[in-house]
Amino acid sequence: MHCPFCQHPDTRVIDSREADDGATIRRRRECPQCSERFNTFETAELKLPTVVKSGDRRESFDERKLRTSFERALQKRPVATHDVDAAIREIVNDLRRSGEREMSSRHIGELVMRELKKLDQVAYVRFASVYRSFEDVQAFREEIEKLERDLPAIEGLQLPLLGEVVVPIEKNKKR
Ligand SMILES: [Zn+2]
Repeated sequence: MHCPFCQHPDTRVIDSREADDGATIRRRRECPQCSERFNTFETAELKLPTVVKSGDRRESFDERKLRTSFERALQKRPVATHDVDAAIREIVNDLRRSGEREMSSRHIGELVMRELKKLDQVAYVRFASVYRSFEDVQAFREEIEKLERDLPAIEGLQLPLLGEVVVPIEKNKKR
């Protein structure tokens, strides 16, 4: 790390200790050129990104809204709550790992689809039919065709599902 006083390109760590019960590392540094000393603090970047919605609107990430999307898609489906919890945790951890400060709601929707696909195919199609119809009708059609190829067993389910009224997540997020 360069010296903030004389801009010398390197400084030496002369002391290193934990602070905030181990959540922060404080390092004392010294510049070999001007001998100034200063502290640096190292913490994990775990802040969740701000969600960027259509029309460039921004809002804080809200785990409850994520859960509502799962619950709507999984209504009356045989999926255990702890599996839903694990899926939500997986998405939240992905967002944390990304280190991004902003994330499009579209990208989060893709993560929800990824998890639903693992949990329950019917819930996945329900969510995708609502979600994708907002984004791109063609992409949704391709998704259904792909599903039909992968899972001939659920074929009969798709048409009634398409006609089902599910509250769109975009509308849901406005509340
Ligand atoms: Zn210096």
